[in-house]
This record gives sequence, C-alpha cells and structure tokens, in this order.
Amino acid sequence: MKKIAVIGTGLSALSLAHHLPSLDITFFEKSWRPGGRISTRRHEDYAFDHGAHYIKEDHGVIGFNEYLEKIGATKNLNGAFCSNIQNQSPIEEKRIIVGQKGIESIPLEFHKKLRYPTEFSSHIKKIDSRNHEYFLLTDEKEFGPYDFIFTCIPFEQSKNLLEDFIDYKNIPTPNFDSIWTIMLAFDKRLG
Ligand SMILES: Cc1cc2nc3c(=O)[nH]c(=O)nc-3n(C[C@H](O)[C@H](O)[C@H](O)COP(=O)(O)OP(=O)(O)OC[C@H]3O[C@@H](n4cnc5c(N)ncnc54)[C@H](O)[C@@H]3O)c2cc1C
Repeated sequence: MKKIAVIGTGLSALSLAHHLPSLDITFFEKSWRPGGRISTRRHEDYAFDHGAHYIKEDHGVIGFNEYLEKIGATKNLNGAFCSNIQNQSPIEEKRIIVGQKGIESIPLEFHKKLRYPTEFSSHIKKIDSRNHEYFLLTDEKEFGPYDFIFTCIPFEQSKNLLEDFIDYKNIPTPNFDSIWTIMLAFDKRLG
C-alpha cells in the first residue's frame, strides 16, 4: 500500500484524506490541534468562531450535509441575516448549519472519524527526496519514507516546501485581500 503524508489538518487536508483511496495516511500539523483556520476561541461564557461561522444548508456539495450529520458535528438552525446594513437590506431568514459545539466541532469530529495518525506540533520545514521516496523534516526529526506527499497549506508556505520539486516560474502567485473581522458578544439578547 502506498504511504502518504498529508501536511496540514485544515478542512482541505481532511477532505483530501477522506477521498484518498489509501489507508496508510499520516497527517503532519504544526499546531497542537486539527482544524487550521476553522477554530472556536472561548472566553468566559462566550465562544467566538473563526474561519467560518456557519454553512448554508443549500451549498450544493453532494453528500456533505449527510456526512456532517452522520459524524455528529453539526446542528441546523434558522438564522436572520442582513446582507447590507448601509442600504438597509431586508432581514432574511435562512436555514444554516452550525457546529455542534462551535464551528470547531466540524474539523475536530471529521479528524476523529478519519482515525489517521497525526504528528501534532510538527512544523515541516523541508521535504527531501532520495531514491524516489520522500522525507519530511522538522527542526528536530525526520519522518518517512513516503511515496506521496500532499501539502494542504497556504500557497506561499507550500511554495517554500516544494520549490525544489516544482518550477513556480509560470505559476502566478495568488493575491489575497485582507478581511477584518470584529467579534462582539452581548450579555443581553438584542432587539
Ligand atoms: C476570520 C476568518 C473568517 C473566515 N470566514 C470564512 C467564511 O465565512 N467562508 C469561507 O468559505 N471561508 C472563510 N474563511 C476562510 C477559511 O477559514 C479558510 O479558507 C479555510 O479554513 C482554509 O482551510 P485549509 O485547510 O485550506 O487551510 P488552513 O485552515 O490554513 O489549514 C492549514 C493547516 O496546515 C498547518 N500548517 C501550515 N504550514 C505547515 C507546515 N509547514 N507544517 C505543518 N503544518 C502546517 C496549519 O497549522 C493549519 O492547521 C475565513 C477565515 C478567517 C481567518
């Protein structure tokens, strides 16, 4: 069976591992927890979801809602949304999917159900290749050999790891706009 290393445990790494035909998969994650940018921070009685707050029920990805329900990661709610406060758009009721215990329930349950070994707190700094096999290096340790490595991390970070293997000359660097998010909590129900 082919040995596969997946770098990252964000939603893209988890989705990829779910669809790979191999069962010999190991995740490498620099953080102490799975989920990447999808996380829930807690302060006193409040929970703040990062990385996504909800999923629209009618997103169109076949089988995704059923899978989330099967792994017990989510619950369905009615949400009231205003898309443009400045123009006083009408408030719309929408069916949405939220995490069972915050949005982080989605990657946490997803990762648990996959049951693949995970090397947490392992920041991969370099990929080496010897005799058509690949090795992953942190500052302290070498992991491998692997037949395939998948990087499920942001573009610039992937590029740093893969520059010895991929010619990036003709691959345009994606540009991202910053998004600022303010998270507010109120101790009384509004309205
Ligand atoms: C505040 C905020 C709000 C957002 N809102 C939305 C939204 O409403 N809708 C939406 O669709 N998207 C939203 N996003 C974007 C969305 O969260 C991300 O696109 C998505 O989570 C990215 O998933 P990913 O698996 O590709 O990457 P990530 O979640 O970034 O996962 C990459 C993982 O790889 C690990 N890693 C990176 N480099 C290494 C390395 N060298 N070695 C080992 N591990 C490594 C990281 O620790 C991380 O766990 C939002 C993001 C933020 C920050």
